[in-house]
Amino acid sequence: MNAPVIQKDISCMDDFDPKSLSPDIALKKIKSEITPVKGVEKIAIRSALNRVLAEDIYSGINVPSGTNSAMDGYAVNSKDIPTGVVAGLRVMGTSWAGKPFRGGLSTGSCVRIMTGALMPEGTDTVIIQEDVERAGDNIKIDGKTKKGDNVRQAGEDIAVGDLILNRGRRLNPADIGLIASLGIAEVSVTRRVRVAFFSTGDELRSIGEELTDGDIYDSNRYTLHGMLSRMGAHIIDMGVITDDKDTLEEAFAIASNNADVLITSGGVSVGEADYVKEIMAKLGRVEFWKVAIKPGRPLAFGRVDNAVFFGLPGNPVSVMVTFYEFVQPALRKMSGEKDSEILTLKARCDSKLKKRPGRVEYQRGILQKDENGELAVFKTGAQGSGILSSMSQANCFIILPMESGGVEPGTVVDIQPFSSLI
Ligand code: AMP
Ligand code: MG
Repeated sequence: MNAPVIQKDISCMDDFDPKSLSPDIALKKIKSEITPVKGVEKIAIRSALNRVLAEDIYSGINVPSGTNSAMDGYAVNSKDIPTGVVAGLRVMGTSWAGKPFRGGLSTGSCVRIMTGALMPEGTDTVIIQEDVERAGDNIKIDGKTKKGDNVRQAGEDIAVGDLILNRGRRLNPADIGLIASLGIAEVSVTRRVRVAFFSTGDELRSIGEELTDGDIYDSNRYTLHGMLSRMGAHIIDMGVITDDKDTLEEAFAIASNNADVLITSGGVSVGEADYVKEIMAKLGRVEFWKVAIKPGRPLAFGRVDNAVFFGLPGNPVSVMVTFYEFVQPALRKMSGEKDSEILTLKARCDSKLKKRPGRVEYQRGILQKDENGELAVFKTGAQGSGILSSMSQANCFIILPMESGGVEPGTVVDIQPFSSLI
């Protein structure tokens, strides 16, 4: 006779769940639901960091704007460069960077020239000062310098009409400098995506309140605020909402009227007081998914009125993992950004990692160079989904694929550096 067993639902502790979606499919479904926002605004380039271009940027000027010298030396007409013998040239004046030589040049003469100074009319070559013998207003040159040497042509870097940056690009500091170098003061960018978020849970206290009876401070709103700031989102922080049906329902209604995206944390698991699922089933077109990832399996995604809804799990690490893997790509698409893959690298893992097949795991790692200059990663201690310090210490995710089991030290693993996650 078999021993009696309790029939149980599949829980977060199980690793393989046939009803779970693979993260790739979940992300595809999410992206297919997202359309870019329509609004565009013209803003000063200094304010454009992390915003997404709504126009192609073309250059209206040549960079460099004029043909100039790449070296300190003497600007000459290449016809005056001798072959096989030494020739003498008369120095007519000096061309400085920002103070060009304006005079004319006759055969057999030259101009002293500094790096960055405009090439005087009638000259096409610079003979570097080390290759010249100077006596008073005269120099002696030989034939070793070739026509066009040591000269930077106008438009050599960027020519008038060149396409410089594409619409859909998220602007980084170099891009902003590049736009400035073209003399462009303002650019058209897509409007900020409006993102409302709140935390759910009776146990959550705001900073400044006292903790009693197992309360905890709400940290999710702060990590979300940080991640959304880096995305250039318009942030609407709605605070902590208690596990009360009416209050939650009201919060959902306010958020969906004011935002393009609503993010909640907590209340999407199967706990008794987690009402998010119930309310969303009533208010919106929302799917509740188990995604085959760890941490962060329960995830809700859908629509409430015109707002896109993400119901993230409550655990602090799960919030960050699901934000980076699912919310961030959605926000990128919504803000008009061209598809950008998260950078994944390979590194040798120097820790032993525990894992069971059945889910993709995002363990927290510290990536560094070993003594041979090779990329090596090790884990940041305990990997529980509530241990936010593991995220704080980490500089990358170690991604272990669905089918893999544990990892022995020395194995090469996939990693995502946080610097590529914004
Ligand atoms: P839940 O999904 O609501 O069952 O929450 C899962 C776990 O995450 C519980 O231990 C919660 O106390 C914790 N948690 C939920 N929301 C937050 C938050 N905003 N900040 C920190 N921890 C949270
Ligand atoms: Mg809760």
